[in-house]
Amino acid sequence: MSAHVTIIGAGLGGLTLARVLQVRGIASTVYEAEASAGARTQGGMLDIHDYNGQLAVKAADLTDEFEGIVLEGRQAMRFFHRDGSLLFDKADDGTGGRPEVQRGELRQILLDALPEGTVRWGHKVSGTRTLADGRHEVTFANGTSTTAGLLVGADGAWSRVRPLLSGAVPEYAGEAFVETYLFDVESRHPAVAEMVGGGMFGAVDPDGDGRWIGAHREKGETVHAYVTLARPLDWFAGIDFTDLAASTTRIAAEFADWAPEFATLVTGSDTAPLLRPHYTLPIGHRWDRVPGVTLVGDAAHLSVPNGEGANLAMLDAAELGEALAAHPGDTEAALAAYERGLFPRSADAAAEAHHKPTSAELIEFFTQDAQAR
Ligand SMILES: Cc1cc2nc3c(=O)[nH]c(=O)nc-3n(C[C@H](O)[C@H](O)[C@H](O)COP(=O)(O)OP(=O)(O)OC[C@H]3O[C@@H](n4cnc5c(N)ncnc54)[C@H](O)[C@@H]3O)c2cc1C
Repeated sequence: MSAHVTIIGAGLGGLTLARVLQVRGIASTVYEAEASAGARTQGGMLDIHDYNGQLAVKAADLTDEFEGIVLEGRQAMRFFHRDGSLLFDKADDGTGGRPEVQRGELRQILLDALPEGTVRWGHKVSGTRTLADGRHEVTFANGTSTTAGLLVGADGAWSRVRPLLSGAVPEYAGEAFVETYLFDVESRHPAVAEMVGGGMFGAVDPDGDGRWIGAHREKGETVHAYVTLARPLDWFAGIDFTDLAASTTRIAAEFADWAPEFATLVTGSDTAPLLRPHYTLPIGHRWDRVPGVTLVGDAAHLSVPNGEGANLAMLDAAELGEALAAHPGDTEAALAAYERGLFPRSADAAAEAHHKPTSAELIEFFTQDAQAR
């Protein structure tokens, strides 16, 4: 008989774990800081990979529901050189292994699959501590608390569970995304719609300094763009991102030496730009086994975004759920088995995310390797 599992965080990691456990007859409760499922827009599209995220979808027995939310045609890829020349253009022929979904819709199919009451909204963890009997006490900002025999931190970058296992704290990675949204692009921004195409878009400087403009054609006629800039945090602090015109002009100026059409992804924004600094845990972050507690997803291995974080969080969750089901009555054996897979996988993924490709690697990526994707 497997014990009840207490999960902190109702992101993709925590919800996937709850669902995989449910499918295997193990009860869980998910405590989430946000007040409700709709408290915050879930932002963006995610491509869910056949080698990690989709394995978790299968373990969660939600393949049909997942296929129902896949956005057709969004695996198209188009990359430009900063001078405006096309480096690579591939239509979505339906054979790619990275179907795109809206993050909010993926989260919703997980929520819909869970028994009523599994997620306790409005429970922001303020502290955790290990009790003399080895169980873990979790206190919430709403004044309540709970005691867990098995506690899983799925509470993201600034995890309140992580301190039970490790002293690691995320550090600024030296770069940030500035995100913009352009709505009704077919009618209001036709040149942008044409340039971005039907799926993923990128503009790069193969010999450059990490500057990059990416964009996705999202659901309907929305283009979501994200500029990567390697600047100190105080450089970004000097920009008022609530001032749409001034901030987009300032960010676009950083690309003054690029073909001018790319800057319209910034200056054409319909919303005030969103600054998202990238934080990272040390590559190879790990911990010694502490009875009755572990981590999944960003809480365990926060890294710079490279399109793998949500996929890895879901795979961690699936593997942990399956390990618990495979070791009924022996939680420690389950956690040890899970972490044996988690640590090397996370270290490899973080090293890859931090690797800055050389110009030769970039060109190979955009021309030859990408053909096989
Ligand atoms: C700009 C950007 C773009 C990205 N794009 C991609 C992409 O294209 N593909 C991809 O695979 N990954 C992407 N990632 C990475 C991905 O978003 C994360 O790796 C993923 O969301 C991690 O999932 P998680 O469940 O571990 O944590 P989270 O998604 O962060 O979920 C954590 C949950 O815990 C809750 N929580 C936090 N603190 C507390 C607390 N104290 N008490 C209770 N609850 C709490 C939060 O409200 C949240 O619901 C991107 C990241 C960023 C920043």
